[in-house]
Amino acid sequence: MLKNDQLDQWDREAFFHPSTHLAQHARGESPNRVVKTGSGVFIEDRDGTRLLDAFAGLYCVNVGYGRTEIAEAIADQARELAYYHAYVGHGTEASITLAHMILERAPAGMSKVYFGLGGSDANETNVKLIWYYNNILGRPEKKKIISRWRGYHGSGLVTGSLTGLELFHKKFDLPLAQVIHTEAPYYFRRPDAEMSEEAFSAHCAAELEALIEREGSDTIAAFIGEPILGTGGIVPPPAGYWEAIQKVLDKHDILLVADEVVTGFGRLGTMFGSDHYGIRPDLITIAKGLTSAYAPLSGSIVGEKMWKVLEQGTDENGPIGHGWTYSAHPIGAAAGVANLKLIDELNLVNNAGDVGAYLNKSMSEALADHPNVGEVRGDGMLCAVELVKDKGSRTFFDAADKIGPQVVGKMLEQDKVISRAMPQGDILGFAPPLCLSREEADTVVSATDRAVRTILG
Ligand code: PMP
Repeated sequence: MLKNDQLDQWDREAFFHPSTHLAQHARGESPNRVVKTGSGVFIEDRDGTRLLDAFAGLYCVNVGYGRTEIAEAIADQARELAYYHAYVGHGTEASITLAHMILERAPAGMSKVYFGLGGSDANETNVKLIWYYNNILGRPEKKKIISRWRGYHGSGLVTGSLTGLELFHKKFDLPLAQVIHTEAPYYFRRPDAEMSEEAFSAHCAAELEALIEREGSDTIAAFIGEPILGTGGIVPPPAGYWEAIQKVLDKHDILLVADEVVTGFGRLGTMFGSDHYGIRPDLITIAKGLTSAYAPLSGSIVGEKMWKVLEQGTDENGPIGHGWTYSAHPIGAAAGVANLKLIDELNLVNNAGDVGAYLNKSMSEALADHPNVGEVRGDGMLCAVELVKDKGSRTFFDAADKIGPQVVGKMLEQDKVISRAMPQGDILGFAPPLCLSREEADTVVSATDRAVRTILG
C-alpha cells in the first residue's frame, strides 16, 4: 500500500479535482481525504476514520455502500462481456432488461430509454432531442430552453447554462444564448412575506408566462426543472406550483423535462418525483440512483409524444446522429439491474418515505426555534437547514463568513457526520442513503444541532 505522504504529494501534483478551489488545494489548505471503503451509510478513509455519510456521496449512493449483490453483478458482467456498443440495434441482456425495468417503474406515458453516462450528458441528450423534434415538426425557431434560477442540470456547455447558479457560469462565458432563466419556486425567499404558498405558485407561473410572451412562444421549446430543487438549496415546490406551471406550458405548446437525477428511484418515498408531485413530463432525466453510483450510467426517458416524432425524423433523415461510445455500457447496465432489484427487495422506497419524514420532523423539532435557523425544509430523504443572520428579515450572513461551510466542518470534526454546504446562501443539505435507519437519523440530527450551536451559540 502506498504511504499517505506519497499519495498526498501525487494528489497535489497530478490530480485536477472537480468543483475544488484549485489554488487552495495546491497549497495544501483544503482537505485531502482518501476514501477507502464503505458499508451501509458509512464510509471509511485510509486512516480508519469512519464517517456517517448523510449526503450519500453526491446524493447518489441510494442503496448504501458495500452492496455485494451489485459488486457481483458488475464482476459477472465484466467477465462475460465487459463491453459492446449499442449502435445500430445492438444491446446486451443487461441493457435491454434495464430499459424494460425503468419503463415498468416510470410515470405513465413514457416510451423509450436512451442511456448515457451521467446526468450532464443525459440533459445534453434531452436538449438535442428537443431541437431535433422541433426541426422535424418544421418549427426551426422554437429552440430556447427555460430553466429556473437555482436549478441544477449539469456542468457541460448547455447543461451548465441550464444550471441557474452563478458559480457555474462565472468566467465560462455561460449561459449560452439558447438558455433563459425564470424565477425559482423558493417560498422562503418570496417577494412578500404575506404571500400564501398558492399565491406564490401563481406568481411564479405568471413570471414564467410573462417571459414566454416577451420572448415569443414560437421561440420557446422546453422548460426543465427538478421536481424539488436540489443543489440550489433543497427547496420543495410550494403548494400548487407544478399544476400552475404545467398549465402555462400546455397553453404555449412547450415541452416539459423533469430532471429526476436526484429524485428518480425512490428519494422522495415514491419511485419518481413526477408521481410524487403530479408532474406530466415529456422527458425524464435519470442518473445517480439508477445504479446507486456503483457504475456510471444515466438515461433520458422519452415520452410517447416525442418518440413518435423522433421515429418519423429517422424515416425522413436516416439514423439519428446522436450516440456515445459508452451508451448502455454493459457494466453500468448490470449494476442498474442489480440496483433496482435491491431497491425492491429492501423496500427502500418506503423506507425513504418513512425515515425521511422522521429525519425532517426531528431536524425541525431540534432546530426550528434557533434564532439563526430561518427554515428547516425537505421532503422524503432530502432535508435542508437554512441559516440566516436575522430570522425576522431573513437576512443572509456575509458570504465571506462562510457560516454554512463552518457548520458542516464542525459536524464532521465533532461527530463524524458528512453533510453538504449548498451553494448560494448558508444552507446545510442532507440526502442520506435511502437505507438510513431511525437511529442513524438521530445521529445526523444531534450532530447538526451540536454543530449549529457550537458555531452560532
Ligand atoms: N441534474 C441534477 C438534478 C443533478 O443534481 C445533477 C448532479 N448533481 C446533474 C443533473 C448532473 O449530473 P452529473 O454530475 O452526473 O453530470
